[in-house]
Amino acid sequence: MPPEPQQFASDNYAGICPEAWAAMEAANRGSVPAYGEDPWTKRAADAFRTLFETDAAEVFFAFNGTAANALALASLCQSYHSVICSASAHVETDECGAPEFFSNGSKLLVVASPDGKLNPALIRSVATGRSDIHFPKPRVVTITQPTETGQLYSLAEIGAIAETCRELGLRLHMDGARFANACASLGCSPAEMTWKAGVDLLCFGGTKNGMAAGEAILFFEPALAEDFGYRCKQAGQLASKMRFLSAPWVGVLEGGAWLAHAAHANACARRLAAAVADVPTFTLMFPVEANAVFLRAAPEHLEALRARGWRFYTFIGGGARFMFAWDSDPARIDALADDIRALSQRAA
Ligand SMILES: *Cc1c(COP(=O)(O)O)cnc(C)c1O
Repeated sequence: MPPEPQQFASDNYAGICPEAWAAMEAANRGSVPAYGEDPWTKRAADAFRTLFETDAAEVFFAFNGTAANALALASLCQSYHSVICSASAHVETDECGAPEFFSNGSKLLVVASPDGKLNPALIRSVATGRSDIHFPKPRVVTITQPTETGQLYSLAEIGAIAETCRELGLRLHMDGARFANACASLGCSPAEMTWKAGVDLLCFGGTKNGMAAGEAILFFEPALAEDFGYRCKQAGQLASKMRFLSAPWVGVLEGGAWLAHAAHANACARRLAAAVADVPTFTLMFPVEANAVFLRAAPEHLEALRARGWRFYTFIGGGARFMFAWDSDPARIDALADDIRALSQRAA
């Protein structure tokens, strides 16, 4: 089949990056033990411990982010607990109830916030609003870094949230489906953005970073990981040929490709945002801090853009979402920007 022109509707439209592909190819030579008892899986877990500058982290691999988030949250909760999240959180809007399902009913406490981010005051108000037996006991806060609309929590913001969590007896989980993009953008180390700031548990996205499939779950406090392997197996997340989930991590982590790819994707988002900044009919909905650009436009303009062959989703806030990945082609981005500009001029 001939390749279709590149689209930016989602960062998981992208293919597999060369580093992940090469590692899978290498892992495909010969046979090794199954179910994660293989050298690739050990090497990938060690690569995470090196990257995160801690020998203590326990690392698990799941097929996708929904499973990683849902099982991670379930591991922190009893069924009568609750999880504080933002209204736009993927765990609330895009996981079909998986966190509630895998936790046997732990309730998500959804917080509306002006910028889609949680903060200590919001967390405190939800966590302390009720303390009676009739309300599910708050147990975890989950934040998405970067958020679903491409904003970042600064290290100071994460630290302040973690401090509030500690004070209130809550655990802090980070949905890092685009964790690499956040690291590249903030220019901080993975350790600084997680355990050094007080994050207990991280889901680190591989798929949107350039892998075929796979997310890593990192427990920074080993005791929290107790029996987590059983949870993964029961949920159908223990890959028998685990090396094909783990080897790609070796490929992207050891040589630094994870960060370079994310930096490229972020730069692509800035490129589109800059190219259309002065187009009056398409306006930026959110600050561009990672690999996402959201543009608000009249429905007829969005339709006209689609008619020119561009694909995009409008499920967040009604605007057009463009997401960039390791393979985003700057020439295609410029073509998109040109089409946006041309539509605008036609309307004028
Ligand atoms: C993509 C994404 C996930 C993972 O989604 P899956 O389709 O289950 O892999 C999780 N959280 C966020 C914020 C995402 O954007």
